[in-house]
Amino acid sequence: MLETTTVTEAAPGGVNDDLLLVSDRWAILLDGVSRYPGADNGCTHDVSWFVAHLGAHLGRGIATAPSATDMRTLLADAITLTMADHGAGCDLTNPLTPAATVAAIRLSADRIDWLVLGDATVSWLSSDGTADAVTDDRLEQLKGGPVVVADVRRYDSAYVASVRNKPGGFWVAAADPNAAAEALTGSVQRDRVAKVGLYSDGITRLVERYGRTWRELFDLAEAEGPRALVDAVRAAEKADPDPSRWRGKPHDDATAVIARCS
Ligand SMILES: [Zn+2]
Repeated sequence: MLETTTVTEAAPGGVNDDLLLVSDRWAILLDGVSRYPGADNGCTHDVSWFVAHLGAHLGRGIATAPSATDMRTLLADAITLTMADHGAGCDLTNPLTPAATVAAIRLSADRIDWLVLGDATVSWLSSDGTADAVTDDRLEQLKGGPVVVADVRRYDSAYVASVRNKPGGFWVAAADPNAAAEALTGSVQRDRVAKVGLYSDGITRLVERYGRTWRELFDLAEAEGPRALVDAVRAAEKADPDPSRWRGKPHDDATAVIARCS
């Protein structure tokens, strides 16, 4: 079974668009993509509505489908069902339609299946104490993208619209079930894994920006509880001499699921 501890917290002063769902057999983490200021996304719903619907559909799919069902199929179905939940006033062809990154795991008799789409992360602590992680970094690979600096240093919204859910660009769960086929997936032998971590990018900046290791994240959560991961992120952000060197918000919603496997 999976024995989980979790934390999810909005960026200071913001609304939390991350969502986590856990059971003793699976876990899901969604990170809603923030709206681009001033850019029309064609939708009457807010980001938290989108992640709530996508998460509910994906959770139901994982909970009820046979364990042999490809996780990408379950994600595609969840995207399709979420599309049907939008109203007549929503233009789902808008390239900035609400979206989320996804990390999910599913336990079966002899393995743990995982799925990552967008810059969420699944990390493992092996029985021998080594830690590893999978992050879908296709957005990060788009080095040539025009960056705007207004409220936040970020890719220009017109550029994002041209590369989001397009071949050669990057992929997120939005209003195109075909994006699910682009998710990274795999399986690990259950008896080789001590713990699994699911992290939103608000947590993984501890590794990607601030020099922590994947192993240290497990150790910190073990010693002090997962809340300590968020505290460490906020402390590192506060101590950052030049947060504007990074693309993305100075603070982000931060979510972690640590699942002990037994
Ligand atoms: Zn909508």
